[in-house]
Amino acid sequence: MSESEPSIFTRIVAREIPADIVFENDDIIAFRDINPQAAVHLLIVPKTEAYANVVELAAGDPALLAQMVDAAAQLATEHASGEFRLIFNTGPSAGQTVFHVHAHLLSGSIGEGTLG
Ligand code: AMP
Repeated sequence: MSESEPSIFTRIVAREIPADIVFENDDIIAFRDINPQAAVHLLIVPKTEAYANVVELAAGDPALLAQMVDAAAQLATEHASGEFRLIFNTGPSAGQTVFHVHAHLLSGSIGEGTLG
């Protein structure tokens, strides 16, 4: 991540910008995507911005990645049927716009957008 500016997700963690937060623990936060592509579209985000994408996270802290998957399963049960897609856009040409690793949890009716 940038050395100078906190990511938009770090600013959500710090409550500097609002978000519809649905889950939080010491390591992870989850909130509704501002531009939903499915009936349930949550972002699951490690609080650390040390990892820009899922490849870096898997190499650097696989237990944290596993925590994100556990949170996704739990949230999909709470907010939808329990079945879900988990998407990590990795790199600009794959649609990544925020370089603070995050998972898109999609469940319910899934649209035709870039994630669907
Ligand atoms: P990506 O394109 O994979 O990097 O995903 C970034 C996601 O962050 C997009 O789906 C955006 O809609 C979402 N997003 C950006 N800003 C906010 C915000 N303030 N609150 C919630 N979601 C956001």
